[in-house]
Amino acid sequence: MSTALLEVRDLKKHYGAPKGAFGHPGTRVKAVDGVSFSVYSGETLGLVGESGCGKSTVGKLIMRLSDPTGGMIRIDGSDITHAHGEPLRQLRRRVQMVFQDPYASLNGRMRAGAIVREPLENFDWRPAKELDSIIADLFGKVGLQREAMQKFPFEFSGGQRQRLGIARALVLSPELIVADEPVSALDVSVQAQVINLLMDLQQELGVAYLFISHDLGVVEHIAHRVAVMYFGRIVEIGQKKAVFDQPAHPYTRSLIAAAPVIDPALRRERVLLEGEIPSHDNPPAGCAFHSRCPFAFDRCRVERPELTPRKGGQLAACHLND
Ligand code: SF4
Repeated sequence: MSTALLEVRDLKKHYGAPKGAFGHPGTRVKAVDGVSFSVYSGETLGLVGESGCGKSTVGKLIMRLSDPTGGMIRIDGSDITHAHGEPLRQLRRRVQMVFQDPYASLNGRMRAGAIVREPLENFDWRPAKELDSIIADLFGKVGLQREAMQKFPFEFSGGQRQRLGIARALVLSPELIVADEPVSALDVSVQAQVINLLMDLQQELGVAYLFISHDLGVVEHIAHRVAVMYFGRIVEIGQKKAVFDQPAHPYTRSLIAAAPVIDPALRRERVLLEGEIPSHDNPPAGCAFHSRCPFAFDRCRVERPELTPRKGGQLAACHLND
């Protein structure tokens, strides 16, 4: 395989909780605890897991919106783990983000054309006419009318606003877009339109996506490879087909079984999840999933499983069949 566009190695984000009663040290919350993966040019890696598993924190660390506690992030071989100043500015050109709530991420007092144009003006100077034609072209690419350039964000529907967010992310021709739950705030019919738009844009422009979502159905549609996160760590990662057809981790199996499938013939075997997601105040020893796993045995309660190769070619962190 070619060199990775994005490489994440042993990434960590730990938060120190405030001191407890009588000056006892507070609990250290390990929101991201040793995550490694790569994203290659022109591909989509889906990063999935329940709310609170650390997947959005991974996105923020890559965007350098938050400082990692440990590990390394490389773009095209350059270490950007602690980038600031000019290197960070240049990173913004190559890596952009699409947010869950397009309304909150767009300046409501600016017209749509100016919103999309702003990043371009910050990076290079071109005659106004040339900028106008670039922006009009981009509006066409994301399925917005040229006249929409004069509107304010509140005049758009939710789906149109997300198209506007995508246009703004694309205006600098980034190589990678970190899309954090980009369709979860939209109606189901609009979700499909925006997902298809992202896929079409990838075909046309060759942009790679790190697609962060709790929705396995959406990820199955858009991703080439899938990484499943649980309690701050990746528990399974591999080609989409291997992960969906032969899931090796019980948590992946339970997520897939819980995802809605309309055709009853395609329904998958159910793996019922018991218990709650563990608390960061009292993190479990051994496998973090053991309190909910129907297959847990003694070893699971004391020894943390590492990612090892599985039948389908993916990696999974589970003592079963390792
Ligand atoms: Fe279940 Fe044990 Fe595998 Fe963890 S290591 S997922 S508890 S079988």
